Amino acid sequence: MLFHSTRGNDNNKTFEEVLMQGLADDGGLFMPDSWPQVDLDHLKSLKSFIDVAKYIVPMYTDSSFSKDEVHEVLENTWHDFEEKDYLKIVDINKSLSVLELFHGPTAAFKDFGLQLAAAFFNKTLVDQNKTAIVFGATSGDTGSAAIDACKEFRAIKSFILIPDGNMSEIQRKQMTTVDKSNVFPILASGTFDDCQDVVKKGFKDRSFLKDSQYLLAVNSINWVRIIGQICYYFYAALKANEFSKPLNFSVPTGNFGNVFACYAASKMGMPLSKIIVAVNSNDILHRFFKDNDYSKNKVSETISPSMDISVASNFERLIYDLYLDRDSDKCSNLYSKFPTESIRLDEDIWKKSASLFLSYSIDDNSTFKCMKTYFENSGYIMDPHTAVAADAVTKLNDRLENNTIILATAHPAKFPNALEKAGINLTNVPKNLQKVLNKKEISFKLSPFDNSIFEFIKDNN
Ligand SMILES: *Cc1c(COP(=O)(O)O)cnc(C)c1O
Repeated sequence: MLFHSTRGNDNNKTFEEVLMQGLADDGGLFMPDSWPQVDLDHLKSLKSFIDVAKYIVPMYTDSSFSKDEVHEVLENTWHDFEEKDYLKIVDINKSLSVLELFHGPTAAFKDFGLQLAAAFFNKTLVDQNKTAIVFGATSGDTGSAAIDACKEFRAIKSFILIPDGNMSEIQRKQMTTVDKSNVFPILASGTFDDCQDVVKKGFKDRSFLKDSQYLLAVNSINWVRIIGQICYYFYAALKANEFSKPLNFSVPTGNFGNVFACYAASKMGMPLSKIIVAVNSNDILHRFFKDNDYSKNKVSETISPSMDISVASNFERLIYDLYLDRDSDKCSNLYSKFPTESIRLDEDIWKKSASLFLSYSIDDNSTFKCMKTYFENSGYIMDPHTAVAADAVTKLNDRLENNTIILATAHPAKFPNALEKAGINLTNVPKNLQKVLNKKEISFKLSPFDNSIFEFIKDNN
């Protein structure tokens, strides 16, 4: 399986190239040349999450690694989960369940994708006898998951920019208490967008790198993260009903990575009824699905900070694959003018998604109410991101058939202020989070408005 860019000018790439490169050279996103097809009967015979991963992952990695090599990587990929099956499905009632994806070391679903990325980064670096810098900005959970996933690999140094903003104290502490000589949490006094600009500049400039050193992107446009997420959709559907009936998945989303993984699983043969695209008041995706209006607005801060975005990077993959039938010229043309010109598709093309996608935008008030209602009615405690997806199900209930699974993307203990405001008293805090609370914070304060971050990386490289 080879990969190509959604914009048509970076093609025939191997898995390893796509992994180490992140974004395509022409500014597009990498896509597999075709959708590999699963054998559902074979999947039904598999017992564990790792078994499913051993079946799915090699479909995308064969251009670079043998099956045996990949299986060996996967034996050691996912670690420090507090649930021995990695994920857990909790039934709310006969037709509604919650898929808990937050039992990993950083208590958010991002551990699934980033631990897979880190395992393959490390394999590649060791095979090639090279080193790498991980450089990224985070609005919440990406930074901690990337740091945790890479911290034991000596060939990788992580420099993560933490903006001023409304991430929770625990989210910040997860990055500043790691205390490893290859981890550099940088408090950058600016907004997330300011930090993102520095990262973009760094990927262009690269002068702080040593000879033949890699600069690695850990944001959700990296295809390897999507692969990790495809695995849990198959495993969840297998556990829920052995693929006997198509399910609905309600996904709390920002950058559309998690939704795209669900779509990818369905393209590979997973029975699927509807995907619910659940967003907070940063509603670019909802405006598109509802009104064919994909236009960039200012970011507003919400109680679900990991979904506070102005554009949804991974959405380009859906535009390309579903709406434009993989016409890279058309895709390139749309994105060359975006965001100056917003994206609006021809009406008949835009309608293509209606059979598969529903969407809803949930504001903070409704999110609080939803957290409360679930707690009072069923004793179930959810974090604000999960509540956005849960409330979208309530709002769209009339349009849903079959059983529905809500994706729980973060553990509620990560957001104590939101819980308190909703009047919910949480007693069980995961061990991985407890450990973080009392540790000393170590971080580096640097300005995102001059060269100091690049100087810092050079000095510590
Ligand atoms: C990152 C994140 C999301 C959004 O994920 P996307 O892949 O961007 O859709 C949702 N919830 C939590 C808790 C997250 O950390």
